[in-house]
Amino acid sequence: MGKIVLILILFFVIAYAIRRALGARSRDDDADAPSKPVARGGAERMLACQHCSAMTPMSAGVVRGGRFYCTEAHAKKAQDA
Ligand SMILES: [Zn+2]
Repeated sequence: MGKIVLILILFFVIAYAIRRALGARSRDDDADAPSKPVARGGAERMLACQHCSAMTPMSAGVVRGGRFYCTEAHAKKAQDA
C-alpha cells in the first residue's frame, strides 16, 4: 500500500513542478486567456472553484490566498467582493 501513496506524492510533486515552470514562463495577468488543453487520463485531482463551484483540474486553476479558483478571473472577482 505504501507504494501507491509514494506514486501519488511523486505525481503531485511533478505536477507542481510543471505548474511552476509554466507559471514562470508566462507571468502575464491575462484574465480571459484561452483555456489550456486539459490533461488526458483524468488522473489529475479535481478541485471546486471557491467562486462558482466548478470542478477544475488542479493544474488548470489558480490558487489565491490559499483558495482554489477555476480561472484567474474568478480569483480576482472573489478578492474584489
Ligand atoms: Zn470559478
